[in-house]
Amino acid sequence: MVERRRGRHGQRDRQRRLAAEPLCRHCKANGIITAAVTPDHIVPLFKGGLDVDSNIQCLCEPCHSIKTAEDMGTRLHRRQAEIGADGWPKA
Ligand SMILES: [Zn+2]
Repeated sequence: MVERRRGRHGQRDRQRRLAAEPLCRHCKANGIITAAVTPDHIVPLFKGGLDVDSNIQCLCEPCHSIKTAEDMGTRLHRRQAEIGADGWPKA
């Protein structure tokens, strides 16, 4: 059973999820404390990910942009020189 919620319903989830995880998960993994601004689907919906809390990570805007580009495929490949050994772009 696939449950996908968008639009107005999604807005309430968004606030609830940000309240549950107020700090950017990717920054936190790198020892940086950054306020999260958007809940991100770890496995994107268009790749079959579910709109459930277990598939959500809250990210700051730069991390979300990077993640979205990666989800889409090729975008960041030509900038690999700027990506550090940990797989994330150098700050
Ligand atoms: Zn971040």
